[in-house]
Amino acid sequence: MLEAQRPLPYAAARSAARRWVDSYQPRGKLHPAVCTQCRAAEWQGQWRWNVELPDLAPVLCPACERTRDGAAAHTIELTGAMPPHWNTVRTLLGQVERDTIRDAPMERLMPLQVLDDRVVVRTTGKQIARRAVAALVRRWRHGLRLTFGADTTTIEWLDSGR
Ligand SMILES: [Zn+2]
Repeated sequence: MLEAQRPLPYAAARSAARRWVDSYQPRGKLHPAVCTQCRAAEWQGQWRWNVELPDLAPVLCPACERTRDGAAAHTIELTGAMPPHWNTVRTLLGQVERDTIRDAPMERLMPLQVLDDRVVVRTTGKQIARRAVAALVRRWRHGLRLTFGADTTTIEWLDSGR
């Protein structure tokens, strides 16, 4: 059974989302900039790869800053009977990240946290989190129980999961 439990009423979730301000978005920057760590460049409000411009101001991009601070934009918790599927899960997450980061340099996975009873996947953006959840659901479908919170999605592998 795929069960979608939504602890927040829809209206409350919507208003929480509106209040959510991304404090990691750079503000008031006048010049194109390049991240000293990952080399992504900010140009006309967009982060891109492979921008070849001279004299870009050095900065730390929002994704590298979030990763340094451990400040996730969204967290996905993988629990339940997941361990037998771990290699497939890890491969899928890697594919999602490669596909996403190419066009959206600020959408990344932070280092995975492998705990005793769960794996915690923290992301630097909401888009990659949605894509990762979608990829896992496509693969296991009815073998999962999903719980959606404002900043955390929990995916539990059921015992009967394939
Ligand atoms: Zn960076």
